[in-house]
Amino acid sequence: MAEQEQDAYVRFADIRKSYDGETLVVKNLNLDIERGEFLTMLGPSGSGKTTCLMMLAGFETATHGEIYLDGTPINHVAPHKRDIGMVFQNYALFPHMTVAENLMFPLKVRGISSTEAKSKAEKVLDMVGLDGFSNRRPAQLSGGQQQRVAVARALVFEPKLVLMDEPLGALDKQLREQMQFEIKHIHENLGVTVVYVTHDQSEALTMSNRIAVFSEGVIQQLATPDELYEQPSNAFVAQFIGENNRLCGTITETDGDESVTVRTDTGAVVRALPVNVDGIGSKTTLSLRPERVVVEPEPGNFPNVFDAQVMELIYLGDHIRTRINIAGHDDFVIKIPNTHTATRNLKPGMQIKVGWHINDCRALDA
Ligand code: ADP
Repeated sequence: MAEQEQDAYVRFADIRKSYDGETLVVKNLNLDIERGEFLTMLGPSGSGKTTCLMMLAGFETATHGEIYLDGTPINHVAPHKRDIGMVFQNYALFPHMTVAENLMFPLKVRGISSTEAKSKAEKVLDMVGLDGFSNRRPAQLSGGQQQRVAVARALVFEPKLVLMDEPLGALDKQLREQMQFEIKHIHENLGVTVVYVTHDQSEALTMSNRIAVFSEGVIQQLATPDELYEQPSNAFVAQFIGENNRLCGTITETDGDESVTVRTDTGAVVRALPVNVDGIGSKTTLSLRPERVVVEPEPGNFPNVFDAQVMELIYLGDHIRTRINIAGHDDFVIKIPNTHTATRNLKPGMQIKVGWHINDCRALDA
């Protein structure tokens, strides 16, 4: 633990923020970001992500607490002295300057000679795949190209930390996905620390080493992408990341840390993994990923087996998205791989059996 503390490159320590002196939009945030890490702040609009980024950049001040950069408290360090690169959704390139001039600007203000600035600008332009575009003005570039220049400008002075706030929000889906990989590769090649803000979960899963899931100014869970998806620690995270079936019920039996028995509101009895629950009699939300439900399970292998009725089938190539009615819930979704022999004969109205393992059904907060 002590070693980890020393390693933190960015540290938010007990950070609170209120704009109006009443409501806290960031509530006692504690977060350590490691050197070289790609950390994403993910959450719905208004959850406090941008406010955290702005405090780290120095454009907003914390109401309480301290932010450390490489061990140094920075609450009173001016933004331009923090040496942090920044990329925003709206590019913010200087329209009257050429691409090269835009890139040389942050170097000139740092007192770097024109010759050196020029060579650094060319190098970084090459890195974002825009060599040959030096003499264009921003208006002569597409949205994707402008955003590449914005990324290049954030990197050109070789900052150790780069902040990105929804940088791909204005781009169409295909370009956005391409840029996600490009930014990820630049991060890997340069070893720079990146703090990235997005409300798009697939973007966060694609790019990040770790993701901090925000809701109402509080980090709900901080984990790697696979951990977040496989082991959500509360109902908010389970619902926000990926698709999820929810069954509400009450705990009727417990078996230590191994399992709980839950009677759902429609009377089904389900065994689940206790993750974030109290004892017998308490309410819980069961969370179950659609791809973890098995159709026509082999008898004996599954502690949870239910009769279900097929309501709707949607062919999606690699899998069949199937809505079933199970114990009175008709919005239960399962994904059946297209290799499964059973999928070939499924029709709406058919009765089937489905099953799942205890560990795939997480008992979370109500
Ligand atoms: P996110 O980035 O997750 O969308 P923000 O940090 O932008 O969230 O906003 C968090 C909350 O703070 C929101 O309720 C928002 O309305 C409020 N807020 C953000 N910036 C300001 C500001 N400059 N003045 C007053 N309230 C603000």
